[in-house]
Amino acid sequence: MTSSYAIALHGGAGVNPERDYREVEVHLSELIRQCESRLKQGQSAIDAVEQAVIELEASGLYVAGRGSAPNISGSVECDAAIMDGPSGKAGGVCAMQGVVNPIRAARAVLDTSPFVLLAGDGARQFALDHGCEAISATASHYRLPVGIEEAELSVLDPGLAHGTVGAVALDRSGGLAAATSTGGLLGKQPGRVGDTPITGIGNWADSEVAISCTGIGEAFIQSGGARDVTARMAYGGEALEQASTAMLEQVAVAGGDGGLIAIDRRGNCVMPFNSPGMKRAFVRSGEAPMVQIL
Ligand code: ASP
Repeated sequence: MTSSYAIALHGGAGVNPERDYREVEVHLSELIRQCESRLKQGQSAIDAVEQAVIELEASGLYVAGRGSAPNISGSVECDAAIMDGPSGKAGGVCAMQGVVNPIRAARAVLDTSPFVLLAGDGARQFALDHGCEAISATASHYRLPVGIEEAELSVLDPGLAHGTVGAVALDRSGGLAAATSTGGLLGKQPGRVGDTPITGIGNWADSEVAISCTGIGEAFIQSGGARDVTARMAYGGEALEQASTAMLEQVAVAGGDGGLIAIDRRGNCVMPFNSPGMKRAFVRSGEAPMVQIL
């Protein structure tokens, strides 16, 4: 066991500077401290990212879990993925209705299923069979996330009308992991699936780096996503920061915006974004935690 650990969280790309995000800032500050204390005590990266995302989903402050917003039919459909660097195993669920914590379902896929991604009713049944808590998929059972008003639910306003939560971590054994969960884009078409549950696009972890993305999923899918960052590093020798920025430039070329959080095996962290703000937090052993919104 080494003494180094690090964890970064995001609460989604897109911030409205006119609105008050103090509740989000307080939440991220408390959560990053709890995450740090668990990692310090030897928690594995995969457990750390799952637990962090469960807490982000449960807060209802972000467009994920209890904060997920309805699609144009008035139902809430969620996507989530989780990946463990040391084993190379991944699990995900997409277009899934009626489960409180989609990331728990993704973890159950990783731990117990020979498959990587389950969709729709099959994903929900699998989640319930594996002990995940059910919730009605009707919008009234969910909370509007901070910064989003009722009137915006049917309007696609790039940079604001979406959100996601994510966590990436390095544990004291040198293991990396990533977890990402989303309610997707507000006012989306039923059945629409974004980048988040697709391993290698919205979420990735290997022995070198863990990455969680947020932003307009279509642009991430069409421009390579998280695996483009690792490929730039592995094949092109680019540094993490350079590779992450270059990937986001391609997201912009594809007509989208967003950001990512990434931690490498040395505990270096980058959190670039080209959206108007990204709720984010980071802590590394021996340093004070940071939380930023804009
Ligand atoms: N990437 C998510 C999606 O397209 C949304 C977001 O991160 O804000 O579903």
